[in-house]
Amino acid sequence: MSKISVLGIFVADISFSGNKIPSVGETILGESYNIGPGGKGCNQAIAISRLGGEVNFISKIGKDEYGQLAINTLNQNKIKTSTIIQSPEHQTGVAGIMVDKKTGKNAINVITGAPYTLTIDELNKNIDKIKNSEIFLTQLEIPKEVILYSLKTARENKVLTILNPAPASEISKEFYNYIDYFTPNETEAEFYTGIKIINQDDAKQASEKLLNLGIKKIIITLGEKGLFYSDGKEDIFLKATSVKAIDTTGAGDAFNGGLAFALSKSKSIKECLELANKVAGLSTTKLGAGNSMPFFKDI
Ligand code: ADP
Repeated sequence: MSKISVLGIFVADISFSGNKIPSVGETILGESYNIGPGGKGCNQAIAISRLGGEVNFISKIGKDEYGQLAINTLNQNKIKTSTIIQSPEHQTGVAGIMVDKKTGKNAINVITGAPYTLTIDELNKNIDKIKNSEIFLTQLEIPKEVILYSLKTARENKVLTILNPAPASEISKEFYNYIDYFTPNETEAEFYTGIKIINQDDAKQASEKLLNLGIKKIIITLGEKGLFYSDGKEDIFLKATSVKAIDTTGAGDAFNGGLAFALSKSKSIKECLELANKVAGLSTTKLGAGNSMPFFKDI
């Protein structure tokens, strides 16, 4: 039995680093490129495992070169792969990432590939893994009906649920009944509430709106500004860790992985947020997504 289950996607991140992110029609000469593991689910699973957490990653990949990269990555990171479906008919996902070397900011286009075809029947083959977990973490990169079903099943089995609602996209009201922790970044929080998040007050207002929908706890990550937490009774604001960020790809994933790990250790909410904030901050000091996740010894 794994304490934490993550449902989500793996993609091969192909990232280009240069002095700027090219605009439409523009060609620039960049500095370096890298092919490494990515996909929110996979990044979050790596973050959990590198911290020492026991994690099962439920996903679907193709039987191709990048599918092999997925398996190698998961093995190297001691993540259980018995719950990975490998389909010869589909491609493993890829993401094209442009990174601005000066600010660490990025622009991304993801082709999810195989997991786009994941069905409830396929998920049911591994549903016991979710039912027997303490924490269940997922995102919005696979079909919505599969996500809703997974959250509902987790909740019915008293598993704590975290939905990282990324990338931002329409979800039905029913979702909100099954979410313990909802972890949007600023842009996503704006998408779900219509409130533009510039400061702590905006974050509080957006959290109130989300809590009223039935979600138990809200964490809005604020990039280099840190994060805001609210459960309706207690509010916590934490400043970001002071680091020299070179690539913020995967910062939100590091945060969610760190949060799931800390919650599995039954730490107080303040301690969980502090740990996740530190893990996320450190992840920005390295290039890449999955490969930038820090180890427990680093923090
Ligand atoms: P996403 O990667 O999903 O867009 P954010 O940009 O909000 O998410 O970042 C998630 C978390 O990563 C933040 O709450 C913070 O803890 C950390 N973080 C992001 N950018 C920085 C930075 N420049 N310096 C330190 N920590 C950062």
